[in-house]
Amino acid sequence: MIRINENYTKLKASYLFSDIAKRVSAYTAANPGKPVIRLGIGDVTEPLPRVCVDALHAATDEMAARATFKGYGPEQGYAFLREAVAQHDYAARGCKIDADEIFISDGSKCDCGNIQEIFAQDVRLAIPDPVYPVYVDTNVMAGRTGANVDGRYQGVTYLESTPANGYVPAVPAVATDLIYLCFPNNPTGAVATKAQLTAWVEYARRNRAVILFDSAYEAYIRDPAIPHSIYEIEGAREVAIEFRSFSKTAGFTGTRCAYTVVPKTLMAYDAAGNAHALHALWNRRHTTKFNGVAYPIQKAAAAVYTEAGRKQTSDLIDFYLANARLIREAMNRLGFKCIGGDNAPYLWINTGRDSWEFFDLLLNRAQVVCTPGAGFGKCGEGHVRISAFNSRENVETALTRIAAALR
Ligand code: PLP
Repeated sequence: MIRINENYTKLKASYLFSDIAKRVSAYTAANPGKPVIRLGIGDVTEPLPRVCVDALHAATDEMAARATFKGYGPEQGYAFLREAVAQHDYAARGCKIDADEIFISDGSKCDCGNIQEIFAQDVRLAIPDPVYPVYVDTNVMAGRTGANVDGRYQGVTYLESTPANGYVPAVPAVATDLIYLCFPNNPTGAVATKAQLTAWVEYARRNRAVILFDSAYEAYIRDPAIPHSIYEIEGAREVAIEFRSFSKTAGFTGTRCAYTVVPKTLMAYDAAGNAHALHALWNRRHTTKFNGVAYPIQKAAAAVYTEAGRKQTSDLIDFYLANARLIREAMNRLGFKCIGGDNAPYLWINTGRDSWEFFDLLLNRAQVVCTPGAGFGKCGEGHVRISAFNSRENVETALTRIAAALR
């Protein structure tokens, strides 16, 4: 009798987006003349930058000619893209990351989810709350947690992000081994200062732990004092893996391209205490289970680093950040405290009441959809996430409606 991986039965079903969809369709069915605006989405709305589209077309033409056709590429990515990443995302910010420490992939979701495979079954996990759900769920699937009791998996150290700590968790009092951090954060939009990240790197060094640093929203950082990479922190090459994605930087959510940095100086240990380079383990995993990102997509990603590409992606992000500013100002005028939106595409609104109650209020009175914070973790209760990924017209209309409804 074939048996299932019973760890999957421990997964708490996420009803967040299906619950939202149900409430929205019930509302629109009952109110057909009242169009709803979705400010809850985590997907980009604007098209690919022109340079990326041109690079895609040119690379597709190469695939059409025998002389330039490409079959399987290197699993880790083409050198032209790895070198562009090393130069523009790292060397330019004073970080020493070599091109062969960069693994190109088809998304940070997969990388954040798969990375846990190279660690022992009994590593002690530290995971933020609220958070992008992939970190915890992939560890549940792998059997690294106990059951879910009252919304939390047993055996996980939750790093609480609350108004009291400015939504940036401090290092825990207990020792942990595998620490997930995400800055700029989804869902809160919070960013970590150099001092806060330094404390994490020091904690990891003390505990011989590893930090998994998800900086999918790095390109939204506008405050020059905020680090873009964990490798801007001294000693991070010995304790951190970093995940980056072209999804929110250049509108690649449907195009799919990302990368993971595993420094060659990053070690973890076997049961006998011998050190092993995680780079070699991840390389083995990547080359065994992944066959590379399509050549035209990697060409489109490399175009992001050209002069025109940097200008076009920066303009794209400025557009979303201007949406975010409008949202923040409008919510502040209504008396709500919120963070995010200045160095991130998300705003985290402290609603002062139950997050689903606030969701219903916005839907029923303003026909605006937000994302209830409770769906991202216990500490998300009392908050909602509003996303800047939308057209200017939708944002302005939504804000006018919210102001009229809540005034
Ligand atoms: N990490 C965070 C924090 C995200 O919010 C997302 C997407 O929403 C991802 C990773 C996934 O990015 P990708 O599109 O590269 O899979």
